Amino acid sequence: MALKFFNTLSRSLQEFVPLVPSGKKVGMYCCGPTVYDLAHIGNFRTFVFADLVRRYLEFRGFEPQHVMNVTDVEDKIIRHVRSAQIPLREYTGKFEQAFLEDLRTLNCRAPHQTPHATEFIPEMIALIEKLVARGVAYRTPDGSVYFSIEKYRAAGGQYGQLVHLDFENLRVGERVRSDEYAKESVADFALWKGRVPEDGAVFWPSPWGEGRPGWHIECSAMSMKLLGTSFDLHLGGEDLAFPHHEDEIAQSEGCGLHTPGQHFVKYWLHAAHLLVEGKKMSKSLGNFFTLRDLLTKGYTGREVRHLLLTAHYRESFNFTLEGLAASRTALSRIDECLAKLTELAETHTAPPAPELVQRFTEALDDDLNAAAAWGAVFEWVRQCNKALADHTMAPAAAAAALSAWRKIDEVLGISPAAAAETAPAEMLALLDARQAARKAKAFKRADSLRDEIKAKGWLIEDTPKGPKLKRNA
Ligand code: AMP
Ligand code: ZN
Repeated sequence: MALKFFNTLSRSLQEFVPLVPSGKKVGMYCCGPTVYDLAHIGNFRTFVFADLVRRYLEFRGFEPQHVMNVTDVEDKIIRHVRSAQIPLREYTGKFEQAFLEDLRTLNCRAPHQTPHATEFIPEMIALIEKLVARGVAYRTPDGSVYFSIEKYRAAGGQYGQLVHLDFENLRVGERVRSDEYAKESVADFALWKGRVPEDGAVFWPSPWGEGRPGWHIECSAMSMKLLGTSFDLHLGGEDLAFPHHEDEIAQSEGCGLHTPGQHFVKYWLHAAHLLVEGKKMSKSLGNFFTLRDLLTKGYTGREVRHLLLTAHYRESFNFTLEGLAASRTALSRIDECLAKLTELAETHTAPPAPELVQRFTEALDDDLNAAAAWGAVFEWVRQCNKALADHTMAPAAAAAALSAWRKIDEVLGISPAAAAETAPAEMLALLDARQAARKAKAFKRADSLRDEIKAKGWLIEDTPKGPKLKRNA
């Protein structure tokens, strides 16, 4: 079966064929965080999704080059820098570090490149110069430069590739800032923003005077510089499709760098929102959890990762703490099964048993249907548990099952550290003492030792090979 993605550009499922079909290389760009605060787990739904795309491409034998930018200059950042009275870099640096740490906690593979917008100002200026030279961008008296959608369309450009647009009413509802009064049309967007006093020390020289880049041009400049003018995959949350991604396409394709028929990006993938009681989780609504909020409540990165990966990426779903508790239960079922398989397999090794890998691949080939992939995983757990309980599984089969799990976990990334965890010596000593007490028929003492073990976070599980300790999840 072929790998298919739902391409927002064609609004249909399409087979994934890289721009260079004979090769393995895939260029992949995901709009990164705006580092003015801690990211919330809604943001991380999108980044865990990007990690799923990247890991699955690797699983399918591709070699993705994963780029995630860091937006470190933008209106909100400037506002915060002004009120905190500290240099831009110092302010954004600490949120960037926190973001990267959170990505690691969620076991996301580090993007191959994480370019900072502030390090690509010359590239942004060069693109804007091209757009001005081609007559699709214009300078206003305040030293700003705007992209003219009308002129772009008149020159043959196609605006509205990702979303169907009503050109009559385009952006009339969008708030027009007072310093944007000079725009020719309300639909036009800023490529360069002329310096204003509120910008403080945040400005760069340019052919149009001092100022700073608009947000959209940042992504065009960084993606084309690192992945080429035409690349395979562009990802982001669904709220970015318009205007951010639409504007990225217009700016990039408006520069005249593409040959006829060539596009800025071949496949656009958008992740649906994480909701809270039916509303988008967002800073502005105040209905958000950061990853750190959840860690403080005792949840783990792998539990949050599991929850964020349960639904199909194009379906929005409600975040609840009950959902997170269900993830904990689901993971402990997997952990238990893996622990039993490991015990049975002992020193045997075997190549992956094909069924699980096959069903898992079929599910994810179908536009990354993670819900179906988990279905395959839990059906496999059920079958393994049954064979283990019936004693119909041979050690070599257990080893093959474990290999299959390890293979698919390259994509899921939820390797059960807890299952592999061996009990500390202190716990093993308590367990020995309890066994000795039972042997001596000192049942009261045996029970109190069991309670002590439980109070320290471990459970005694009686198995045919004698008692074992496992973490009390
Ligand atoms: P920002 O830092 O605001 O630029 O957002 C970073 C990424 O998070 C973007 O791709 C957004 O589309 C995405 N995002 C924001 N809110 C949510 C949400 N509630 N669910 C999923 N993705 C989101
Ligand atoms: Zn972007």
